[in-house]
Amino acid sequence: MTDYMKLGDEYILHTYNRYPIVLERGEGVRLYDDKGKEYLDFAAGIAVYALGYGNKDFNDALKAQIDKVMHTSNLYYNEPACLAAKEVCEASKMDRVFFTNSGTEAIEGAIKTARKYAYLKDGSTDHNIIAMEHSFHGRSMGALSVTGNAHYREAFEPGIGNVRFASFNDLKSVRELADRKTCAVIMETVQGEGGIYPSDETFIRGVRELCDDMGILLILDEIQCGMGRTGYMFAWEKYGVKPDIVTMAKALGNGVPVGAFAVTAEVADNSMAPGDHGTTYGGNPFACAAILEVLRQYRERDIAGHVRALTPVLEGALDELKDKYEFIKDRRGAGFMQALELDRPCAPVIAKAQENGLLIISAGANIIRMVPPLVIEEGDIRDMKERLDKALSES
Ligand SMILES: *Cc1c(COP(=O)(O)O)cnc(C)c1O
Repeated sequence: MTDYMKLGDEYILHTYNRYPIVLERGEGVRLYDDKGKEYLDFAAGIAVYALGYGNKDFNDALKAQIDKVMHTSNLYYNEPACLAAKEVCEASKMDRVFFTNSGTEAIEGAIKTARKYAYLKDGSTDHNIIAMEHSFHGRSMGALSVTGNAHYREAFEPGIGNVRFASFNDLKSVRELADRKTCAVIMETVQGEGGIYPSDETFIRGVRELCDDMGILLILDEIQCGMGRTGYMFAWEKYGVKPDIVTMAKALGNGVPVGAFAVTAEVADNSMAPGDHGTTYGGNPFACAAILEVLRQYRERDIAGHVRALTPVLEGALDELKDKYEFIKDRRGAGFMQALELDRPCAPVIAKAQENGLLIISAGANIIRMVPPLVIEEGDIRDMKERLDKALSES
């Protein structure tokens, strides 16, 4: 038998310390490794596989598109892209969309759009961007430059420059950094990698007001918290605010690598023009067939409503574990984006959970993160609680 772990360690560039599991196939909300061991999946490939594995309608839609054509370039129109663009705009209540291949690229496009918008307003190129501490926006040079974790940035400096970091949920710190050369505030509506921190309502509303008052664009990164994960199609809906630019990815493709940024008509009409931005693959017929089917299922199955309905069950199960174990300091999150913060490293718990057939991940050394498929049912939550309880008691 091939030793895949050995092969991977030898030939894949070592940028990840992988868990010692070779995943082979999935069914519903369960994954199976190469030895046939079953795992209940509360990671979903990092908040990606929202509609579950082996989703027949989704797989059929992809297969049908493969048989027609997978790629044509953006030099021509294609049916799935035109239809998916309308769907994405309607779902996000934005007006125009640009399709990318990843979340990072969506961030790049959002930053470029904000800079171009500011450039067209005053003709200068000395604008700054306000980002948040503990934010995560991706690994390319632009996305990294607005990522709050200095550890990710350090070896790769200098970044794009003119980026200032405010403290998340501290409106005063944003106000102090904003000036007439600020072209955008970029933030996650719910911080993901940084430890699962939802925006306070007064904060996000205050940032929106500040941006309106000063003519600054608000970029909300909903790559992880969007697409129904918090019980709303986009997490901002709960707060009654709307961004000028939104970035999405992860669950948008349900496993097919896609991303997008969408903008209001006001931004669209006063920023990017032909030649300003592009992508060879982005928005190709295959990727857009995936997006179309994902959004069709979100609508027909009311995925966000399902998350809203089951959130108290998930939170209740995690709160019971928090009450049972003194070393769990906090439970927080929004919808199916939940964290348990420990007073110690969470790696041993994650390893024990894997032994017990449960996949969970971390968001920082002490924080267990759960971002399950959005189609989990009550029985899956009970199952998770049992397996996690066992892991917590053994570690
Ligand atoms: C995952 C993530 C990104 C980066 O997306 P990639 O598809 O990995 O490039 C950006 N922002 C947030 C909030 C994310 O969770």
